[in-house]
Amino acid sequence: MTTDFRTGYIALIGKPNVGKSTLINALLGQKIAAVSSRPQTTRRRQLGILTTPNAQLIFVDTPGMHSPRHKLGEFLNQEAVEALEEVDIVVFLLDASTGPDEEDELIATRLAALRRRPAVILGMNKIDLVPAGEAQARQEAYQPLVEGASVVSLSALYSTGRVELINAIIDLLPQREPDFPEDQVTDLYEREIAAELIREAALYFLREEVPHGVNIRIDQFMERGDEGAYIHATIFVERESHKGIVIGERGGMMKKIGSMARQEIEAMSGRKVYLELRAKVAKGWRNDDAFLQRFGYGIKEAKTKRKK
Ligand code: GDP
Ligand code: MG
Repeated sequence: MTTDFRTGYIALIGKPNVGKSTLINALLGQKIAAVSSRPQTTRRRQLGILTTPNAQLIFVDTPGMHSPRHKLGEFLNQEAVEALEEVDIVVFLLDASTGPDEEDELIATRLAALRRRPAVILGMNKIDLVPAGEAQARQEAYQPLVEGASVVSLSALYSTGRVELINAIIDLLPQREPDFPEDQVTDLYEREIAAELIREAALYFLREEVPHGVNIRIDQFMERGDEGAYIHATIFVERESHKGIVIGERGGMMKKIGSMARQEIEAMSGRKVYLELRAKVAKGWRNDDAFLQRFGYGIKEAKTKRKK
């Protein structure tokens, strides 16, 4: 490995539905599905790692990107904004098929307010929906959002501009040796990602009703060849009454959670998933250190690991 090698951290941001999940999947491909079973420290902020012959691109926060339901307000919470100060590059995804709107401007304002502003690449996504003659005008409409940003046209859906984006990122990365082995694509086990997706699905339906949230344990994760994967998971709640809510009338709520989680896990892993869920009461789990440690929450707030 020569000193020409470049390594760095990249955050992908943008309003809901702009194509973040589609893009991250296009960038990392199905490789995310082949998550190795090498022992790792549990961390809630997942990294998606793309290693080329001359660079290592480390994308932060990919689980959130897998959720199409993250509201802008949630994304732009304090922790998320501060995380942007730690990355080398922000890819700010925009919808080229429309003009800039309030949500784009809010994100641009937050970016401009960072004490340490990373390099920004404007990703003009959904370019497939833009008539050829209008592409330039769309780009000019978005360009003032971030002064000095470079611009790449993309269609995450059709993988257009993938190589151009990767090259634009590499151009801006600092020269240094890689942080991870070249065959490592993520820092989370696939089962941990599955647990996170189940938790997201549960919170999506239950947010108001189960105030203290839920915790997920993957009891079984088995490969079944052509039939895909079989996952059995337990949703832990704090109270008996919450268990009733999670199960719902004639199991209706559980079905909704299971169905959404299954679809997200299938999208993440690129194969069929059979998901079985049950709910269980674990009184006071939020205050139980041993329980939290077992579920990785002890280091939940750990910042993205960096070697400088
Ligand atoms: P996210 O909320 O930012 O993660 O957005 P998603 O990746 O979930 O994409 C939202 C919708 O936009 C989905 O229906 C995608 O298929 C669609 N989409 C994403 N990228 C493109 C693109 O380049 N072109 C078109 N036409 N649709 C896209
Ligand atoms: Mg998404």
